[in-house]
Amino acid sequence: MRHVPRQPREGINVSDTHPLVEAGTLIVGLAAIFVTIAILLIFLVEIALYFIPVEKEVALFENWLPEDLVAVSPNDERLNQAQLLVDRLAFHWADAPYEFRLEIDDSDIANAMALPGGLIIVTQGLLDEVESENELAFVLGHELGHFRNRDHIRALGRGIVVSMFFAVATGGDVSNLGLNAADLALRGFSRRQESKADEFGLALVYTHYGHVNEAWRLFERWDDGDDSILNIVSYMSTHPDSGDRVDNLDAMATREGWPVEGSITGLKW
Ligand SMILES: [Zn+2]
Repeated sequence: MRHVPRQPREGINVSDTHPLVEAGTLIVGLAAIFVTIAILLIFLVEIALYFIPVEKEVALFENWLPEDLVAVSPNDERLNQAQLLVDRLAFHWADAPYEFRLEIDDSDIANAMALPGGLIIVTQGLLDEVESENELAFVLGHELGHFRNRDHIRALGRGIVVSMFFAVATGGDVSNLGLNAADLALRGFSRRQESKADEFGLALVYTHYGHVNEAWRLFERWDDGDDSILNIVSYMSTHPDSGDRVDNLDAMATREGWPVEGSITGLKW
């Protein structure tokens, strides 16, 4: 039999599917793979970090600062006073494994966070919002509560993975774990973690002052909507809703028998 060569039919290399649909499927597929890898990595890093002993964490992060921190001058009076307050509160946490370091970030947006190695960051925006030492003491006590429960170390796992993905996406340095990544990661704290940190913080405030007067006054003001909502949005994204929080703290004080009356200590700046 003789072979008769034939031209292939027109458009044999063109798929019946519209190219845009194909491109869309590819993008969605890749995104799904990307997200799955990220979730898996977060899970693995969280497990790995959970088994790092506190002493190791302290040794690793002793002098570490987030690369995007814009620290205020070391002579800033607010820095000295806030560090003193952290030390005084931490004094009531017997055998705390951390030497707490406080830094003020030069941002107008109110926020506070607990970072590896015993580092507490508060923003200028938050310090502008507090009206008494008692208010600040509770915010700091709450962050100490996260160290106590080692919530921050789990958040760090998320932060590392988020940074890695930022680095891949932007071609930056993988080793740079910044405040933005940490801030994103801290949004993962559960209600239970937040309420346990509140409980620990309020206990420290009570032990220090002998009462919890004005401890949550800041959140009452925020709940009343007195202040610019834009400035507190960052703090609110990583902490419970002010209204619920006020109710819970009030109930906690009643349950524990911590007096809600007592003299207020003014800010020394
Ligand atoms: Zn918190």
